Amino acid sequence: MNPRIEVRMIPEGRVGDGVMAQAASKPVPAPDELSKPFWEAARERRLVIQRCAACGYYNHPPRPICESCSSERLEFHPVSGRATIHTFIVMRQPNNAGFETDIPYVNIVVELDEQPMLFVAGNLPFSELDRIHIGGRAEVWFEDRGADLVVPQFRPL
Ligand SMILES: [Zn+2]
Repeated sequence: MNPRIEVRMIPEGRVGDGVMAQAASKPVPAPDELSKPFWEAARERRLVIQRCAACGYYNHPPRPICESCSSERLEFHPVSGRATIHTFIVMRQPNNAGFETDIPYVNIVVELDEQPMLFVAGNLPFSELDRIHIGGRAEVWFEDRGADLVVPQFRPL
């Protein structure tokens, strides 16, 4: 067996399958038809989440049908950007391309105020670790990734 690990690089700007494209520094999102409204709003520094017009359930990440009632009547709605920190983990090994120079850093998962179990992930510099507590409050901010791409992130309040 060959123990060598093969790393497949994804060309920057690839669109259509929702995977993260490899940029010069951090990965950048590759919006597809489902997620395009989320990323377009982020560029305007607005946080929107896909919501079902039939039952009101928020779906994230965006889906072709509602996770709660299977309706296809899905729209994007602005949300408050207020959240509770659900969990976090300190990343100490450079396993994720583009983040090597930031090691260590903190991955967080927040639960948006709009609905229980409505989770969004983000990351923060290690210097924020002392302020990150499970159950603590957080708010959205918008990180520029260059090339007209903006990523919604969350920081502790
Ligand atoms: Zn629904």
